[in-house]
Amino acid sequence: MNQQVNSVFQTIDGEQFGVYETAVEAIAASAAAQVEFQNEFGTEARNRIIAAIRQVILDSAGPLGEMAVEESGLGRVAHKIAKNQLSATATPGTESLLTQAISSDDGLTIEERAPFGLIGAVTPVTNEIPTIVSNVISMLAGGNAVVFNVHPSAKMTSAVAIDRINRAIIASGGPADLVTMIKDPTLYTLQEIVQAPEVRLLVGTGGPGLVKALLSSGKKAIGAGAGNPPVVVDGSADVALAGASIVAGASFDNNLLCIGEKEVFVVEPQAEALIDAMMQSGAYLLNTEQVEQVTNLVLTADDNEEMAIACSFGMDREYHLRKEWVGQDAKKILGAIGVEVDTPVDLLIFDAQVNNPFVQLEQMMPVLPIVRCQDFAQAVDFAVDAEHGNRHSACIYSNNVNNVTYFAKRIGTTVFTQNGPTLVGLGYGGAGTTSFTIAGPTGEGITTARDFTRVRRFAIAQGGNRII
Ligand code: NAD
Repeated sequence: MNQQVNSVFQTIDGEQFGVYETAVEAIAASAAAQVEFQNEFGTEARNRIIAAIRQVILDSAGPLGEMAVEESGLGRVAHKIAKNQLSATATPGTESLLTQAISSDDGLTIEERAPFGLIGAVTPVTNEIPTIVSNVISMLAGGNAVVFNVHPSAKMTSAVAIDRINRAIIASGGPADLVTMIKDPTLYTLQEIVQAPEVRLLVGTGGPGLVKALLSSGKKAIGAGAGNPPVVVDGSADVALAGASIVAGASFDNNLLCIGEKEVFVVEPQAEALIDAMMQSGAYLLNTEQVEQVTNLVLTADDNEEMAIACSFGMDREYHLRKEWVGQDAKKILGAIGVEVDTPVDLLIFDAQVNNPFVQLEQMMPVLPIVRCQDFAQAVDFAVDAEHGNRHSACIYSNNVNNVTYFAKRIGTTVFTQNGPTLVGLGYGGAGTTSFTIAGPTGEGITTARDFTRVRRFAIAQGGNRII
C-alpha cells in the first residue's frame, strides 16, 4: 500500500470508532452496547438508526469502492460502488420481522422475533463492504449487535466503513459499538469470537473452509458458502438477450460474486449465435492456443508428485486458482499472454469440454467456458454436475416453461433466474430485496433480519371466557 492511499484510510481525527486491537475488547464493547440497544431502543429508534446507516454508506459508496479495489487488488471500482449502493438501499430492515398471533377459544398466543444478542460475523474479500452493510442492517434491525472478523485483505477499507457506520449510529442517538471489528483479524481472533460466551450466533460468508469451521463450532451458525453457478441456454432461448445478459453477469466485478455465472451449457444449434451475441456485447473469444496460455497463467495443477506446475489440460490432474489472478480485468489477462485489443473487453470466453477445469472450478475471474451440448437433457445433466451440490445459484435462458421448471427442480439452487443475469436474484435489475449473505448450506437463503432473530412465544390462557 503506498503512502498516498494509506492516508485515505485514516479518519479526520485519527480515531476509528468500533475498531479494536483485541477480540476481547471488541466483544466486551459490543455486548454492552447490545444490552442497551435491546432494552432502550424500540422499532422506531432502530428504523432511525438504520436510515442513518443507509445514508452514510450511500454518501461513502464511491470512496469505499475505490479503497476496496486499491486494498484488495480485486474487482472493478464501478461495480464495487454499485454493490455498496445496492446493499445500502435494498437490504430490508425491521419490516422483515413479523409477529404471529394465534387465537382460539382456549386463548391467545403470540410469537415474536427477539434478538440473539451479540453476533459474530465473518466477511469475504470478494464482497467486503456490501456484506458488512447488509449484515449490519439486518442484524441491527433484529435488535442485535455484531462483532466482525473481516477478511484480512480488506481490513483497512472495512475499518473505514465500520468507523462511519458507528459515527452514523451515534449521530442518530444510538449506542456506540453496536458494530465492532478486530483491527488485525486472524484465524486466532476468529476462534476467540467463536468461543466467547457473549457471542450467541455465528454468521459466516465465504468459502467451504470457513463454513465448515463455523458449523462445527457447537454454536448456532448461519453459513453462506461457495457456488459455481451454471447457465443453460436451450433451443427456445432468445440468444441475443442471452449473450448480452451472460456477459453482463459474468463480467460484473470481474466475476467475483458467488452468484456470478461461471460456466455456460448451450444446445449445439444455438452455440454459434450465442457466441456471436456475446462477442458483440464485450466478450473476446479465445482460440485454442490462447486457452492453453490463459490456463497456464491463471491455474496450477497438482500432478501426482509435483505441485504448482504449468498445466496443459489433463483429466488426471487437480486444478487450483492462482490467487493473484482472481478478480483481475479481462484485458490484463489478455495482456499477460501477449494479446493487445483496442476495443473494450469485459469477458474472455472459449469453447470448452465439460471436464475443463474452468467448468468445474469456481474460478472467480472473467474467463467463461462455453460447453456445447447435444440436447437440453445433456445441458441440464452437465449443469447439475458442475454445480457440485452447492445448491447456490443457477440461470436459464429459455421460453419453454417446461424446460425452466425441469431445470429448476433438478438443480434446486437457492437463487434461480430465467432470462436475466443471476444478479437479478439479488434485486439488482430485478424485483426483490438484497443480501450479500446467501445462506445455502444452512437454508436461510437470501438472509434478512428475520434470520438473525429467535422466536419467543407469549401465551395467554383461557381466552378470557372463564373466570377463575
Ligand atoms: P474465504 O473463504 O477465503 O474467506 C472468507 C472469510 O473466511 C475470510 O474472512 C477468511 O479469513 C475466513 N476463512 C477462510 N478460511 C477459513 C477457515 N478455514 N477457517 C476459518 N475462517 C476462514 O473466501 P473469499 O475468497 O473471501 O470469498 C470467496 C468465497 O466466498 C467464494 O467461495 C464465494 O462463493 C463465497 N461467497 C459466498 C457468498 C454467499 O453469500 N453464499 C457470498 C460471498 C462469497
